[in-house]
Amino acid sequence: MLNRTGSWKGCCTPALIGEILLMVGGVNWGLVGVGMLVGSDINAWNVVHMVFGSVSVVEGIIYVLVGIAAVMKIFGCKCEKCSNMCSSCGADNKTAGTM
Ligand SMILES: [Zn+2]
Repeated sequence: MLNRTGSWKGCCTPALIGEILLMVGGVNWGLVGVGMLVGSDINAWNVVHMVFGSVSVVEGIIYVLVGIAAVMKIFGCKCEKCSNMCSSCGADNKTAGTM
C-alpha cells in the first residue's frame, strides 16, 4: 500500500501501474456486479464503460490492460527492484524457488 513518503512498496513503475490497474478493474467489476443485482443495464454501474464507453476501443484496451496486469501479478515482476523489495510481486518468487 501507499506509504507516507509516497512510494509504493518499492515496486518498479510497471508493477505499480499493474497494481493500480488491478484495483481499478477489481472495483469496477464489483460495481458491474452491483449493477447486475440491482437490475437494469449490466453497464449501469460500470465506471469504465461510463467514462470510455463512447469509444469502445478505449474501453476494450482498458479491460485488456487490467487482464495483462493480472497476468503480471500471477507470474510476478522479474525485475531486480521488485525481487528485492516488493513483497507482493517479487519476494514470493524468491522463497517459492523454481516455478
Ligand atoms: Zn518490477
